Amino acid sequence: MSTAETRAKSGVDLGAVRAKYREERDKRLRPDGNEQYLELKGQLSHYAEDPYTPRVERAPKTDHVSFAFIGGGFAGLVTGARLKEAGIDDVRIVEKGGDVGGTWYWNRYPGAQCDTASMVYMPLLEETGHMPSEKYAHAPEILAQCQRIAKQYGLYDNALLQTEVTELEWDDAHKRWIVRTNRGDAFTADYIGIGTGPLHVAKLPGIPGIDLFKGHSFHTSRWDYAYTGGDPSGAPMDKLKDKRVGIIGTGATSVQCVPHLARAAKELYVFQRTPSSVDVRANAPIDPDWFASIAEPGWQQRWLENFTLNQTAGPGAAEDLVQDGWTDLSRRIRARVFDIPPEERTIERILSAWEESDYEKMEEIRRRAETIVKDGETADKLKAWYRQLCKRPCFHDSYLQAFNNPSTRLIDTDGKGVERITEKGVVVAGREYELDCLIFASGFEVGTSWKRRWGFDVVGRDGVALSDHWADGMRSLHGIHTYGFPNMFIVGPTQGANLISNVPHNLTDSARTIATIMKHARDQGAKEVEVTKEAEEAWVSLLLSGPGMMLASPDCTPGYYNNEGQDPGPAARFFVGYPAGAVAYFRYIDDWRNKGDFEGLAFR
Ligand code: NDP
Repeated sequence: MSTAETRAKSGVDLGAVRAKYREERDKRLRPDGNEQYLELKGQLSHYAEDPYTPRVERAPKTDHVSFAFIGGGFAGLVTGARLKEAGIDDVRIVEKGGDVGGTWYWNRYPGAQCDTASMVYMPLLEETGHMPSEKYAHAPEILAQCQRIAKQYGLYDNALLQTEVTELEWDDAHKRWIVRTNRGDAFTADYIGIGTGPLHVAKLPGIPGIDLFKGHSFHTSRWDYAYTGGDPSGAPMDKLKDKRVGIIGTGATSVQCVPHLARAAKELYVFQRTPSSVDVRANAPIDPDWFASIAEPGWQQRWLENFTLNQTAGPGAAEDLVQDGWTDLSRRIRARVFDIPPEERTIERILSAWEESDYEKMEEIRRRAETIVKDGETADKLKAWYRQLCKRPCFHDSYLQAFNNPSTRLIDTDGKGVERITEKGVVVAGREYELDCLIFASGFEVGTSWKRRWGFDVVGRDGVALSDHWADGMRSLHGIHTYGFPNMFIVGPTQGANLISNVPHNLTDSARTIATIMKHARDQGAKEVEVTKEAEEAWVSLLLSGPGMMLASPDCTPGYYNNEGQDPGPAARFFVGYPAGAVAYFRYIDDWRNKGDFEGLAFR
C-alpha cells in the first residue's frame, strides 16, 4: 500500500497535526535561547559543590607522565585501558570529581539508569568479565563498572581526582605538554587526551527570584541524600515523608526520579514546561544462563555493531540483538520507507513515510498517557505534541503512573515555564506553591561554547590557542587530531561517527584508534604525532559535503537538540559526522587503522 493510501485509510490529517505541533512550538520559542539559563557561579556556585566526596588536600604535581587524559568518565577510562594494553604504563587521569565515572559519578539521583541497553552502553564488559544485572542497569552498577575498569587497568595509581585543568600548553622545545590545574599542578606529559563529556556542565533556569528561595534546593546532578534520606541504590528517601517537594523540569532525568519522589514526599509538585514523550521501558533482569550462552569472545563488539546497524536507516539489519525502543523506532521508519516501490523512492516520499511513522508512534505514546493516567486533564497535559526526535525520547514504566498518586500533582505551565520563585516556593500562573525543597532537573549546557564547557583553552605550537584555530568551527581529522596541536587526541562523538544513540560506542572506538597510533609512534621512535594541514582540510571538506546535522530541526519544539530553536550560528555546521553515517565511519576507521600507514598523520 502506498503511503498516500495508508494515510487516506487511517484518516489522519497530517496538515492538522503539523499545525498543532507548530502552535505548541511557538508557545515555547523565546528570543533568549540558551541565555535563559544560568551558570552555577557566584551566588549560585553552591549548586555545583560535590556532595559525594569530601575535599582531600594534596601537594601540587610537577612530575612527568607519558599520557595525561583530561576527564575520568567513559572516554578517559576506555582510552586509559587501551593505552595500558598497548604497553603505556604511566597514564594519568585528571578528573574534577572525587572518583572516576564522569556522568555516573555526578548523576546519583534516585532511579538513575542507562536508557541505552546495558549490553551496548556499558563499556568493556567483556574485558572486565562483568554481566549487567538488568537490560537497563541502574547508576550504582554503572559507576561500579567505571571503578572496576580503573582498578583493573591501574588507572587510579596516577590519577589526580578533584582536580580541574586550567590550561594545556605545548612546549615545542621539549616536545611535550604542560598541564596546569586549579590545584597548582604544572606537570608535563608526552601526550594528552581530552574527553570532558558532552553534557557535564549543569545549568539552572533563569527564573526570576531563583536566589530568594529559603527552603532547601539542589540540582539533580548533586543529589543531597543527607537531606532526602535514602541512597542511590533505591533505599526509600524517608526524610521526605513530611516535606513538600517541587521539581522543575520534565526531561529524561525528571522522568527517572519523579516516581521515587512521588513515593517518598508528603506532597510532590512537578513543574512542567514541555512534556517528554514517555514510551514503554520493559526493563528486566539479565538471565545468567542466557548471558553465558551469548558471551563468546568478541560478543560485545558484535552487539555494538548490530545496535548501530539497527539504528541506521539502511537495509541489512535483519537481526536485532538489542530489541528496544531505539531499534524499534528505526525499524518502523525503515519498514515504511521500504514499502515504497524502489522506483518511487524520492526524498519527498521518504520524508513523508518518516513523518507518518513518527505520527503513528507519537499517537501511541499519547494514548499511553491517556490509558495510564486516571485524571483526564493531567493525562492530556502529559501528552507530547512534537515529533519524537525533537527531544530526547524517554522510556519509563512508572513515571506516568506516579501521577495517579494522590499526593503528586502536575503543575503544567502551558509552555511558559515557571513564572517566579519566592522565599517560600514557586509561582505558576499567579499561584504560589509553598515548598520545603525545590529540585532543579534543568539539565546541562549543550549549546554554549566548547571552551566554556571544557573550562580551559589549549595553547598549541607557536602559541596558537585552540579557540583561535577553531574560531570558525571545529577542525580535525576523525574528530581526534587537530593541526598545530601535536600529540593531542580528542575523544568524543563529533566529526567521527556522531552516533548519538550510543555515545560510548564512539568513545571505545576512538580509544582503539589512539592506542594503535601510540603503539606505532613507539615502534617508530617518534616523539611527535600530528595531523597534516592537508589531511585536516580534506576531512573537514568531506564532513561539510554531507547532509549536515542538527539533532532536531529548527521547526521542533525548543530544547538542547535544536539550540533552543535559535540559529546556532555558522560554527555549528562543523558539529557533524561522517557523511555516509556511523556504520560506514566505523568500517572506514577500522580499515584506516588496519592499513597501518596512518594516512594523514605525520610521525616525527
Ligand atoms: P533536559 O535539558 O532534558 O531537561 C530540562 C528540563 O527543565 C526540561 O523539561 C525543561 O523544559 C525544563 N525547564 C527549563 N527551564 C524551565 C523553566 N523556566 N520552567 C520550567 N521548566 C523548565 O535535562 P535532563 O537532565 O532531564 O536531561 C539531559 C540529558 O541527559 C538527556 O536529554 C539525556 O541525553 C541525558 N540523560 C540520560 C539519561 C540516561 O541515559 N539514562 C538519564 C537522564 C538524562 P523544556 O523541555 O520546555 O525546555
